[in-house]
Amino acid sequence: MTDARGAAKPEQATIAVEYACPSTQPDVSGARVLGIVEEQDGSPHLTYLAGHRPVDEAVLKLAEPMRPTEVFRFAGTCMSSQCRHFDGADCQLASRIASRLTEVVSSLPACTIRKTCRWHAQEGPDVCLRCPQVTTNFDLEDDAMRDLAGMDPAT
Ligand code: SF4
Repeated sequence: MTDARGAAKPEQATIAVEYACPSTQPDVSGARVLGIVEEQDGSPHLTYLAGHRPVDEAVLKLAEPMRPTEVFRFAGTCMSSQCRHFDGADCQLASRIASRLTEVVSSLPACTIRKTCRWHAQEGPDVCLRCPQVTTNFDLEDDAMRDLAGMDPAT
């Protein structure tokens, strides 16, 4: 194909966006520490890491004897259609968080993955104001949390 001057035009590239999942397991592709799960007013509250910290043995060891997801929240490559939360277009977990949870901060957390975060790309700032209370690890007997995670009740 040529342009108006007869010069060859470059092939149009298809740019595929690779989104980041902000609540994932430490063994997924591209896993990094998003933050540390702390407590605020008796509830979990994420303190976001300021820099990039990939997951390695040293990070996993820091969490012992607890599970890594009890101490940290990890971000990694969004698995899209391989994830049970993805309905083919949207992350339903992000939708539930944005529509059901209350805001826990009044301004956007200083989060390092916002440019590629699947939740933010889909739900915008509303989900960020609710994001710090989310933990990857939760009580499997808690039906409200199971519902938020898209699971059937425990009983
Ligand atoms: S604060 Fe917003 S951009 Fe950062 S991980 Fe949470 S939802 Fe994504």
